[in-house]
Amino acid sequence: MDQTPVERLRGVGPRICERLQRLGILTLQDLLFHLPLRYQDRTLLRPLAELVLNEEVLVEGEVVDAQIAHGRRRSLKVRIDDGRGALLLRFFYFSRAQVEAMRPGRRLRCFGEVRQGPQMLEMVHPELQVLEGVAELAMGLAISPETGSEAAPEDDALADAVADVASERRLTPIYPGTEGLQQASLRALTDQALDWLRRDPDALQDWIPASLTAPLKLPALVDALFLLHRPPADAGAELTDALLERSHPAFLRLAFDEMLAHQLALRRLRRARSAQRAPVLSGDGGLRERLRARLPFALTGAQQRVIAEIAADMAQSRPMMRLLLGDVGSGKTVVAALAALQVIEAGHQVALMAPTELLSEQHLQSLQQWLAPLEIELAWLSGRHAGSERAAILERIAAGQARVVVGTHALFQAEVRFAELGLVIIDEQHRFGVHQRLSLREKGEREGRIPHQLIMTATPIPRSLAMSVYGDLDLSEIDELPPGRQPVKTVALPETRREQVIERVQASCRTGRQAYWVCTLVEESDALQAQAAEDAAADLRERLPGLRIGLVHGRIKAQERAPVMAAFKAGDLDLLVATTVIEVGVDVPNASLMIIENPERLGLAQLHQLRGRVGRGAIESACVLMYHPPLTHAARERIDILRREASGFRIAEADLRMRGAGEVLGTRQAGAIQFRLADPMRDSTLINAARQAADQLLAHWPEHVEPLIRRWLGRRDDYGQV
Ligand code: ADP
Ligand code: MG
Repeated sequence: MDQTPVERLRGVGPRICERLQRLGILTLQDLLFHLPLRYQDRTLLRPLAELVLNEEVLVEGEVVDAQIAHGRRRSLKVRIDDGRGALLLRFFYFSRAQVEAMRPGRRLRCFGEVRQGPQMLEMVHPELQVLEGVAELAMGLAISPETGSEAAPEDDALADAVADVASERRLTPIYPGTEGLQQASLRALTDQALDWLRRDPDALQDWIPASLTAPLKLPALVDALFLLHRPPADAGAELTDALLERSHPAFLRLAFDEMLAHQLALRRLRRARSAQRAPVLSGDGGLRERLRARLPFALTGAQQRVIAEIAADMAQSRPMMRLLLGDVGSGKTVVAALAALQVIEAGHQVALMAPTELLSEQHLQSLQQWLAPLEIELAWLSGRHAGSERAAILERIAAGQARVVVGTHALFQAEVRFAELGLVIIDEQHRFGVHQRLSLREKGEREGRIPHQLIMTATPIPRSLAMSVYGDLDLSEIDELPPGRQPVKTVALPETRREQVIERVQASCRTGRQAYWVCTLVEESDALQAQAAEDAAADLRERLPGLRIGLVHGRIKAQERAPVMAAFKAGDLDLLVATTVIEVGVDVPNASLMIIENPERLGLAQLHQLRGRVGRGAIESACVLMYHPPLTHAARERIDILRREASGFRIAEADLRMRGAGEVLGTRQAGAIQFRLADPMRDSTLINAARQAADQLLAHWPEHVEPLIRRWLGRRDDYGQV
């Protein structure tokens, strides 16, 4: 079935085919592995007195009232009642026939999500069917968003499969969809594929021998597929819950297969990498010795350990691919500087890549402060450099004069040529994808040798999770903060206490300390964020005339921003008003107070990063989360966690619990592996099993490896090729 094109199915013409392709479905195998994202439970009628917010449920009731409301937006409000409870149905689009059909006295059956309305619980545009009185109207009334779309001729074969709002005997699978492809069509197509499989179960090979899955009590692949696509009728509460929560063995079986496929792909990557060559960069230790002697602090044990790990890697002829994990403020920059010096000692260049211009500026400054006294030339390549200035910088890089080159991903444009690049350091790796990571290496390739790579991230994730999502990298972890750090005292105050917060800023700055005032906005719009920061700065300047106040945001050009940052760093500004552009990397140990406006708009990881800008020295620091009430439940929980927890590690765990690994590790840009079904956090017990199974498969069934990778990752480009 991995070769059979979906065109072989009934009802699949060029249009459907094109839409399926958008979902990555080309073959029957692809279709079978296109698994439901979730299920709807239409097996039970829920009494209206037992509705739960945000649940999708099937309900019935009699219309007791129907009115067209002319508020801000015209809507039809229909109140139904089942004798014990009531529910409001709300429609923003409706025809006269529909109004007619929902007259008081009619019985309706609806399926939809329960939401909180202004007066009572509501369903907005539920799927609906009139049960009594006007049966002939029922089909035309199915006002689901899907049935609104026009049916193309070739959809016709599928159309008769469209169900109305019947109570079902089995859970209804909901597939990841795409425009122009209805759930009913996806169900009709998977039905055909499942029939095919039923007739010929051997058509789909299980590449994982039962001896590997049986000890884990996982079912056979074909059985698992049948169950997930079409849960058994009248399954009972236990099975239903297990499916809804994705803890059913059938689900675990497929999650296991997916994790195993990823493990195998990562092994393949690693194997290919170990065949690659990199320059051996031992260095004589001279420069590193000089820097260590100049450092105003002693390195922590953890820093020394990771420095040794990195040093050993770069002394090998295999390219290093190492991920350096370390909480905010754990001192990753000095580790990077020492790694850079080793490379320079060995006569090679270093590129340091940061996710934003601002952060690259910061890195330039920190590195300069440490490397300039050792007479090491740095170059900064930024978007602001153009014309002859840019040409001169490029020339210094190409001639090997600039030993360390700092910049954003613009460093990897074709026109940037290095004389002898030995190490690429990437900071805040979560902004770069696996794919980018790989293409980077080619940049420095010279005579078949590629540069070493060190990736630094402050996204503190549990080690086991890191291993499974960054499985192609070796891990180094700074698991200790420099001594003397005090946890940042965190308080949450409503915006109504703004006056008091401003007084606090004043009091703190009077003692010679510095402070940040961070403005956030819900929209990702740079312009709006910038405006909010401008307004806040104007307001604070007016109210705090005694303070020296600076402003930075994404709309201010780099050449104007740099002096502001430098002044703040030098202590010539008391208060820095900023947008979240300062989220990463800014390092001013004298800053001991941070105000975050509207923290409810940010995620935990981002808040932790922001807060990490204070508490970087030995001074006691504070963070005020000035929220805009009322808080949602989730926002309150985030703020509570932040108040309680100082460790980025525990905050990340809480984040993972609240949102799941997929969300936390982000989108395709995340740099982490994206799983379709598996959740490395939730399914963490399977990770080790998958790793062991990978060993077994490679040793005893090597010919199964490629087909299994292809089944799960066939159409992904992010780490298919090496
Ligand atoms: P991050 O890991 O967040 O990038 P930085 O490298 O910016 O952290 O370090 C945070 C601060 O701690 C900097 O001011 C740095 O100079 C300082 N620092 C780093 N290592 C130590 C240490 N071992 N002892 C004391 N301070 C340190
Ligand atoms: Mg940093």
